[in-house]
Amino acid sequence: MRISIASAAILFALGVTLAVPVGAAKPNTRNRAEIPAQYRWDFSPIYPDWQAWEGGMKTLEANMDAFAAMKGSLAKGPNEVLKAYRAFDAIGVQQYRVFRYPQLQRDTDTRNQDVAGKFQRVTALFAKFGTATSWFTPELLQIPQATMERWIRDTPALAPYGFTILDSYRQQKHVLDEMGERLLSFSAQFAQTPSSAYRELSTSDIRFPQIKLADGSEITVSPANYQQVLRTRYEQADRARAFTAHLGTYAATANTYAALYNGVLQRGWFMAQARNFPATLEAALDGNAVPPEVVTTLVETVRSGTAPLRRYAKLRQKLLGVAEYHLYDTSIPPFRTDRAYDFDASKDLVLAAVAPLGADYVEKYRRWMSGGKLDVYENEGKRSGAYSANVYGVAPYVLMNWNDTLDAVFTFAHETGHAMHSVLSNEAQPFVTSQYTIFVAEVASTINERFLLNHLLERTSDAKERFLLLQHAVEAIVGTFYTQVLFADFELQAHRLAERGQPVTAEVLNGIYLKLLKDYYGDSIAIDDLYKFTWARIPHFYNSPYYVYQYATCFASSAKLFRDMTAGAPAERAAATERYLALLRSGGDDHPMRQLQKAGVDLTQRATVQAVIEQMDELVSLMEREAAKIR
Ligand SMILES: [Zn+2]
Repeated sequence: MRISIASAAILFALGVTLAVPVGAAKPNTRNRAEIPAQYRWDFSPIYPDWQAWEGGMKTLEANMDAFAAMKGSLAKGPNEVLKAYRAFDAIGVQQYRVFRYPQLQRDTDTRNQDVAGKFQRVTALFAKFGTATSWFTPELLQIPQATMERWIRDTPALAPYGFTILDSYRQQKHVLDEMGERLLSFSAQFAQTPSSAYRELSTSDIRFPQIKLADGSEITVSPANYQQVLRTRYEQADRARAFTAHLGTYAATANTYAALYNGVLQRGWFMAQARNFPATLEAALDGNAVPPEVVTTLVETVRSGTAPLRRYAKLRQKLLGVAEYHLYDTSIPPFRTDRAYDFDASKDLVLAAVAPLGADYVEKYRRWMSGGKLDVYENEGKRSGAYSANVYGVAPYVLMNWNDTLDAVFTFAHETGHAMHSVLSNEAQPFVTSQYTIFVAEVASTINERFLLNHLLERTSDAKERFLLLQHAVEAIVGTFYTQVLFADFELQAHRLAERGQPVTAEVLNGIYLKLLKDYYGDSIAIDDLYKFTWARIPHFYNSPYYVYQYATCFASSAKLFRDMTAGAPAERAAATERYLALLRSGGDDHPMRQLQKAGVDLTQRATVQAVIEQMDELVSLMEREAAKIR
């Protein structure tokens, strides 16, 4: 079964960095009750009240029990298989409702213990269901694949489940016999040790020092304060001091970090070998049937496409007027603005920006936006950041913490891009294939950001405003493309060391990281030796190996699709737009690589990745031109 608690809980979140709010367009209150209703979520389409939610919990539990009672029935024939899948779908739809109702309310006031308690009841119920259904996949796979294929062919009602069923057979190749699986299951608990020890070391046990800044103020260089210094302190010496203190903290225990990371690598290699994969990369990509060339082509293409990244660094150095340009200088904006973006006006702006996607898309966007599915402003107790959370059969809900900045406008385009993906997928797909993977999710969000950028650029001829817009777009490419590929490159090299039985020490990892900085940035930055410890502080390396490359492949897919939809003859553009909308509607009805191929994106080809590099090149050229006009 593809549906689990984890997927029911899926949120496409963006960690937004909240700048100091400017302007007065947003409500002058943090009291939720005082914020006008049109800016708050309406939960009633999920359940009218808590009593109805209690009823939903009861029905769900009864349906779960009924499903568990189907154990032993699958081999009887296609109708029994169909019955089980339909029952599971109905449970999945209910799971979304009972889960989101308390979860969304908790996020609007995290202090509410009553709601938090109800939410815990949901997770407990889901866990029970997970255990009660563990019989399903093994029992299904007892039926020979040829028989199952015939059943699917002869039973039209089974067709919507065909992809999901056959994908279970595909993954079966790496499932061991009962004894093997039993042995592997014994390792599940201790296999978490490297990640959990990393979490303790990097959060509970870490002590960041205090530093004194040029204006006499003192701060502790925690991750959040460190980022804040890099973005807001115009004295280069302040940024340098914060960098030395922050990275130095990781450097002080680098050998422990290296030992833990080695644990992650060894665990990956152990599991890959146990399940008969040739290497860790193949094992990591098998779930979504992604060929390993996707990652290797990505890394190779980007390695030979760093020229625009370096030009951007040189431009920034010139604008900041610093004799030496360091990595800690890459976040401070060369120009400041106090322009405030009002939410309602921005909503219209985003709607106008996506007009090229067609009247139908825009109309659905508008309708969804006006239905109480947006929680716009911050309030006392509300969680930070922004996300889109789908409720199949109802609609996606989007959380924002609107702060009137340009970043907020882009975040809004991003999260509502996810939401529209859900709107179209919910409408076109049965529940079983309605959920899309991360691999395609970030395409829908970044395309909307790209349309917004284009629209905003078309509307202004002011050099400074244009520069700030371009900067936003280029920063996104640096952050979600170049930096993530550098990370993926690091992961690949580190895993290969483990696969070859070579030592993994802090010194070795430092060496790889330092070389990567030189390979990617060349002489466009002055490389500080302490940066070689950066690998120690990247949570993804420890928590989800081989994950970050997906940010870059999504970005590449989105760049390619955007170019197809906006360049070339009108008929070609129209065809590309139709293919893109079909991708959104397809939800999760196939492996993500095939879904993207149908939309015209082949991630095994260098040209796809090259599209981002060309886009970056173009944007940096525009920035150079606008910058020349500003002074
Ligand atoms: Zn996203």
